[in-house]
Amino acid sequence: MKIGVLSLQGTFIEHINSVNKLGIEAVEIRLPEQLSNINGIIIPGGESTTITYLMHYYGLVHPLKILAKQGIPFLGTCAGMICMACNNHISAAFEPLNIMDIKIMRNAFGRQRSSFEEPLEIPALGDQPFPGLFIRGPRIVNAGKRVKILACLNGNMPVAVRQGNLIATAFHPELVKDLRLHEYYLEICLLKQSTTKTHKQLT
Ligand code: GLN
Repeated sequence: MKIGVLSLQGTFIEHINSVNKLGIEAVEIRLPEQLSNINGIIIPGGESTTITYLMHYYGLVHPLKILAKQGIPFLGTCAGMICMACNNHISAAFEPLNIMDIKIMRNAFGRQRSSFEEPLEIPALGDQPFPGLFIRGPRIVNAGKRVKILACLNGNMPVAVRQGNLIATAFHPELVKDLRLHEYYLEICLLKQSTTKTHKQLT
């Protein structure tokens, strides 16, 4: 199995390290042709305007949308979540992928100096709280019916969501030692890979 990490800007090295620590290969993605034979896509944290602009510039928007339609699992963290959302249009050059039915508000928790870490209850990851590291994160202001809430901050503010094989977090699992969120995501990738193989064998 091979995971592609969008490496245009931001915390891509940290995501690659997290995936590698779990014994899975991860490759840097900067061009559309690097997307073949990829079993999952991670969009890192960073600056969503820069990442979105470069996705358009390098012709990655269309192929990424196709992969999402095919059910290839995506994980977007912080700026990555913004890239996957359906709003936040500044101009055509900055239009997000619009692959998840979530509307977000950028920088909703304040500026860089208001960064914080808060233990989060994420039942899908087990009983132990997960260290939620928030750095100028977005807030989900609206989530469609197909979107499942995986975690809330202060009991009522969704900060981790899943829609089919697409996962997005307002915080940074790639910047903490706890690997359970990556583990959870990679299990989805493994499942998708095995069902696709079986499907290919049957057809
Ligand atoms: N504030 C950034 C943005 O709007 C996201 C910050 C982050 O990824 N830590 O793109």
